[in-house]
Amino acid sequence: MAVLERTYPMKDWSKGMTAFEVLVSTVLSQSTTIANERRGLEGLRTAFGQITPEILAGAGDDEIAAAIWHAGLARQKAPRIRRIAKSIWEAWNGRVERILELPTEAARAALMALPGVGPKTADVVLAMAGGHPTFPVDTHVARIARRWNFVRSSDYESIRAALERRTPPKKRKSWHLAMIAHGRALCRARNPRCDECPVRSDCDWYRRVRNRRRSRARRATKG
Ligand code: SF4
Repeated sequence: MAVLERTYPMKDWSKGMTAFEVLVSTVLSQSTTIANERRGLEGLRTAFGQITPEILAGAGDDEIAAAIWHAGLARQKAPRIRRIAKSIWEAWNGRVERILELPTEAARAALMALPGVGPKTADVVLAMAGGHPTFPVDTHVARIARRWNFVRSSDYESIRAALERRTPPKKRKSWHLAMIAHGRALCRARNPRCDECPVRSDCDWYRRVRNRRRSRARRATKG
């Protein structure tokens, strides 16, 4: 993973954001591109001036949906964002930072107690906004962890545990970001560009594909 970290220097997308904005941004990012997620976030800023639990808790679902339209699934995401905002406003005095001050597991449980917040969203907020040593697992991270044979299961917690076992706590955020960058650039779901990959010599998936190719070539030569 250190090779990936050098290949993809850390681009911290959460820089300059409040913890609540990181949370909203993670909700917006579901099933869309980064560009559209950013357009959704900008839409909220334009519509409401600021993105705070107090403002969004008092907004209507239709207003929020109109503001985040570019991020897709606006009708589902808008009520979810409003309910999360309301919950943070009522239970945490409007401050996600108060949750992030808790020890990691307690903070994780508190985030997951918010309406519609699952383990991935909680881990992203913990790692990106709170500096907690969690390893968020998105679709790229999950695919690469399986290709590297770190884990066979598709279960979120199994993948996270496998990655956290192999990663020093201080490296989890940067390695998580490096794996996502690698999944987007080379280790794509379809047709990964293994011949350009800087970690192919350590990759179980690459070894298996290469061995299959060699066996096929041997069979063809004999035939
Ligand atoms: S060798 Fe291929 S499958 Fe393995 S990590 Fe690199 S791109 Fe992904």
